[in-house]
Amino acid sequence: MTFDTFVMVDWSGGADKGPRPASDAIWACVAGQEPQYFRNRALCEAWIGDLLAAEVAAGRRVMVGFDFAFGYPAGFARSVTGSDDPLKLWAWFEKHIEDGPKANNRFDIAGRLNAMTSGVGPFWANGLGRDIPDLPRKGTSRMGNPFPEKRRVENHAEGSFTCWQMAGVGAVGSQTMMGLPVLHRLRTRFADDLRVWPFEACDAPIAFVEIWPTLYAGPAPEGMIKDAHQVAATAAHFAGMPADALATLMDVVSPEEGWILGVEQPKAPVLRNDCFAMPQGAHWTPVDEALAHMKAHLQPVVGTRDKRLAACAGRILARDVTAIRSHPPTPNAAVDGYGFAGPLPDGAQRLPLVDGRSAAGAPYGGAVPAGHALRILTGAALPAGVDTVILQEDVTVDGPAIACSGPLKIGANARAAGEDMIAGDTVLAAGRRLTAADLATLAACGVGRVAVRRKLRVGILSTGDELAAAGASARADQIYDANRPMLCAVAQAWGYRVVDLGCAPDDREQVRIMLDDAAKRCDVIITSGGASAGDEDHISALLDGTGSFALWRIAMKPGRPLAMGVWDGVPVLGLPGNPVAAMVCALVFARPALSRLAGGQWTAPQGYMVPANFTKSKKAGRREYIRGRIEDGQVVAFGSEGSGRVSGLSWAGGLVAFDDAAQTINKGDLVAFIPFESFGL
Ligand code: AMP
Ligand code: MG
Repeated sequence: MTFDTFVMVDWSGGADKGPRPASDAIWACVAGQEPQYFRNRALCEAWIGDLLAAEVAAGRRVMVGFDFAFGYPAGFARSVTGSDDPLKLWAWFEKHIEDGPKANNRFDIAGRLNAMTSGVGPFWANGLGRDIPDLPRKGTSRMGNPFPEKRRVENHAEGSFTCWQMAGVGAVGSQTMMGLPVLHRLRTRFADDLRVWPFEACDAPIAFVEIWPTLYAGPAPEGMIKDAHQVAATAAHFAGMPADALATLMDVVSPEEGWILGVEQPKAPVLRNDCFAMPQGAHWTPVDEALAHMKAHLQPVVGTRDKRLAACAGRILARDVTAIRSHPPTPNAAVDGYGFAGPLPDGAQRLPLVDGRSAAGAPYGGAVPAGHALRILTGAALPAGVDTVILQEDVTVDGPAIACSGPLKIGANARAAGEDMIAGDTVLAAGRRLTAADLATLAACGVGRVAVRRKLRVGILSTGDELAAAGASARADQIYDANRPMLCAVAQAWGYRVVDLGCAPDDREQVRIMLDDAAKRCDVIITSGGASAGDEDHISALLDGTGSFALWRIAMKPGRPLAMGVWDGVPVLGLPGNPVAAMVCALVFARPALSRLAGGQWTAPQGYMVPANFTKSKKAGRREYIRGRIEDGQVVAFGSEGSGRVSGLSWAGGLVAFDDAAQTINKGDLVAFIPFESFGL
């Protein structure tokens, strides 16, 4: 994310300060230039407006920082506007705040907002002589109001003031209230070109950000006004920052309260140590219960990135995306032909042609008079006087007129503005993995950058003294490590960054060292083997030592217990060692779990009911998966259910899933076949 121009503004909520540069007035600074003094808000608003217009016209990207809160503590926006969207609260203030150089109604508005809220407060302090109903003069007189005292960011910014306090040294409540209407007007004026951080993806030429100059500016040099020094230092600070460092600072999620740029946001909360804890007992946990537990206890562990659309195929959306403009933006022709004001009545018609034409990207500037027609091409904007298009194949051009025959309905062969998407509509939801089609959808509605999740780093570790790496020489008592290439490829197919952690020997200290290293490089660790409760089951034993260990005894075949735990804050999924069981458990459990950790949607594979060409009996009360493939419209089962038969995985086209309750399957019974593609492979 790069900006060409950095402008920092130190705001003021008070009255006109007079012509001589004074402190506690408004100061603004463009990085590299002298700080500027503004005696009142109206002058500063006009200056910013002119500056932004010039920068946008010159094709530059501008970051504008303001030193007041862009949002209020959680819940306040909803209580005023009925919506959590802080930008709706901006509009509310713009509507209700009256601002003049000598006086404004901010204290009355604070009282009025208090009256709308239960309890006494939350706003307090009155800078006026007269009493204002519902606005206590002292913070300590407040009680029973339902909002937090501070925004989350203020708990991480020591010494910051809250926006409830309307007067007194250092108070920012008035600045916020007198600033948001100005920002709202600028935002309305530069609608397409302006985004507000962190509420919107900053993919337009102008970004408004909230700043706190105290973070960057030391004491002012002798003889310089503190506010002037602070805006200059803050502008220089951001202008001098490498683009990727700035992008990291902007990688913040706070959709309602906003955030102060530069205050580090605590990382996405790491998983709780007890996230895998399941009620223990003698019983075997049904597959669906185990999945529901994961769904409820796992959460995204990766932050967000703002990226160009072209770099986003396969990435997971971190936030809902709204259409920046409608698609199509204007009514236009769906075919090559002639446009006119419909409908066309029944029978033979002759419409005189007007001079000129409307083509895609080269619209006709004039209006088409009633009863006339205009040459128009596919995708061309419909000019005034045209709402209907007749196909050129249905027309004979007859000198200066066209001959055709009706009837033709009004609106025929025309596309209405916004018939596909309307500006402001949510077009794609957070958690979606962007497809090629999604990139087209987003591009069409004006979106050029989106907030996506950082790629989940998935570590794959094999365990066992008996394992040799593929292709290496192996002793007769060794087998080749089949799981690691398989699971690496699976994680790769799911769109994650794969970290091949190699193979750990059956040595507890070695496994510990390898887990320590893995936790530094991965967001999740998938192991295979060593996950039961035997002597050489070191993964289980080590996880047990963290206090986070859970051995999931799942009522499922294949699959021995799954070992779950958290190592140094990083979740570990311990799969069985047998390759078939490892694969089935990966598809059934790791797939939705990883999707959740990556910020994606919970996934459930789509199966299809197909007649079986085999018979089978199974134990009631457990889920079974066997390898199958489709032959002549029926599903055929692999010859052996042995969990070590790797070749059967290659033979198969997917898994056949048998319900927990099923006991006997006869030839011709419908069974659920889940192709490997449905598991995302
Ligand atoms: P374990 O869970 O470690 O007792 O392993 C169960 C079975 O899976 C044993 O027969 C192991 O040899 C086999 N196994 C474990 N890891 C792998 C692997 N990476 N590739 C192939 N077979 C494995
Ligand atoms: Mg082993």
